Amino acid sequence: MSVSSEKQGLNQEYSLCMPKDFERSRNLLQQVYEKQVVLEYIFTRGITAYGGIRVNNRGFHKEVSVKYSIDQWKTASFKLTITNDELLLMLSTKDSTSSILPMSISFAICYVVHEHNFWDNNYSLDYILEIEENTEKRSKSILLDDAFRVQIAKDYRAISHGSDQAGIVCGLKNLGGTCFMNSVLQSLLFTSPLTSYFLLNEDMKNISVSNEIIVNEYLNLIYLLFCKKYAVIIPVPFKQIIGHMQDIYFENQQQDAHEFLLFLLDYLHEDLIRIKSTSIIVDLFHGTYKSTTTCIDCEHFSINFETFVCLTLPIPLTSRCTLEDCLQHLYEDEYLADDSRWFCSECQRLCNGKKRLEIYKLPKILIIQLKRFQLNHEFNWIKNDTLVLYPADNLSLQQSCPSSSSQQALYTLYSVISHQGSLNDGHYTTFCRDNEQLQWFECDDEKIKYFNSDKLDSNSNAYLLFYIMKNAT
Ligand SMILES: [Zn+2]
Repeated sequence: MSVSSEKQGLNQEYSLCMPKDFERSRNLLQQVYEKQVVLEYIFTRGITAYGGIRVNNRGFHKEVSVKYSIDQWKTASFKLTITNDELLLMLSTKDSTSSILPMSISFAICYVVHEHNFWDNNYSLDYILEIEENTEKRSKSILLDDAFRVQIAKDYRAISHGSDQAGIVCGLKNLGGTCFMNSVLQSLLFTSPLTSYFLLNEDMKNISVSNEIIVNEYLNLIYLLFCKKYAVIIPVPFKQIIGHMQDIYFENQQQDAHEFLLFLLDYLHEDLIRIKSTSIIVDLFHGTYKSTTTCIDCEHFSINFETFVCLTLPIPLTSRCTLEDCLQHLYEDEYLADDSRWFCSECQRLCNGKKRLEIYKLPKILIIQLKRFQLNHEFNWIKNDTLVLYPADNLSLQQSCPSSSSQQALYTLYSVISHQGSLNDGHYTTFCRDNEQLQWFECDDEKIKYFNSDKLDSNSNAYLLFYIMKNAT
């Protein structure tokens, strides 16, 4: 559920918040059984409130609406997405045309099924969202405000470490098929130049909750993961906010970790360039391909440059190979003939050509996707389980990037996302190296274990490899 005020200029001046004494429902299942409809959780970011509603599944045709009141009772129904018994909805108050803003919005939830109406009206008290004026003193950045930190930890239902566990990595609870997201978040957290930027750069103290929505929530999340106070957090707020940005992440189901990684980096980049014209995403992750197409007839050639965020490498059909074999495969000449002939500006006609790819600029953070999922002749997705041996240290890309010096082209591994099982019911986990502790961890949702790095390089489930340039300037 999302309640958002759309009045012009409201963003900077006001925020919604739940009353300080608000407690989330306890004994959820018992309450759903008794009341049929329950507001499961609610959290606010700027002028938006997000929530989840749980109903007893009493029939196929069901309808949930929120009735809210500002100055007097108004009734509206809203766009809904239904996932099993969980309902998420979005509501906007477009009617705040008066110059005096109300102090609060009260609301209750109505569930209609088989012509019966059921209500969750907070035991007749209604739910209240307070409208607060933003002042200099009330900063809404997790980097600046202790009270805000406590609230964010509450939103994520953060569970503290026992005193003897300090320094261990914080786990992320699986929300149902969301291991793809948890794995990517852990790998990005351990991308130390990225995390340092988010936690230390001055620009991060001035982000707007309402404009830089993804950057703001990513900052909240990595702050909780990094602060070493918590053993487990439940990433519902992050998941719900990205679900509102991209439909496929709305429901709790398995998605491709590689696609999610690209989606997240792209959205972070879009938010960051609004704050400043450059972005750390470009600085760290963007590399450049150079492709040279040569005419077979006249040897005239043309050069194109293209940005990449991730190197996608096909895996040869064998039981065992090295990462270098996969890289080799990528840079083999591609012959352009028949339907894929190329227009040669010298010959002034379509000619057979040959295309060669190389890396022109290496990224500081190199992400490699091993292309394990492929469509077979019957158009079914199949998984390639070939064991790809990859170096944990001193991966050299000099052959792929002839313009680099041998020192520049050296990389160290710091994270690996693995995919076990089949495409539809598989599971993602991630291995990450902690720079401070010089220790590897295995993150399997909320389960975190120390990991022996000797076992790192023989992993036939490795799907995404994260390398950092050794001599990045
Ligand atoms: Zn030609």
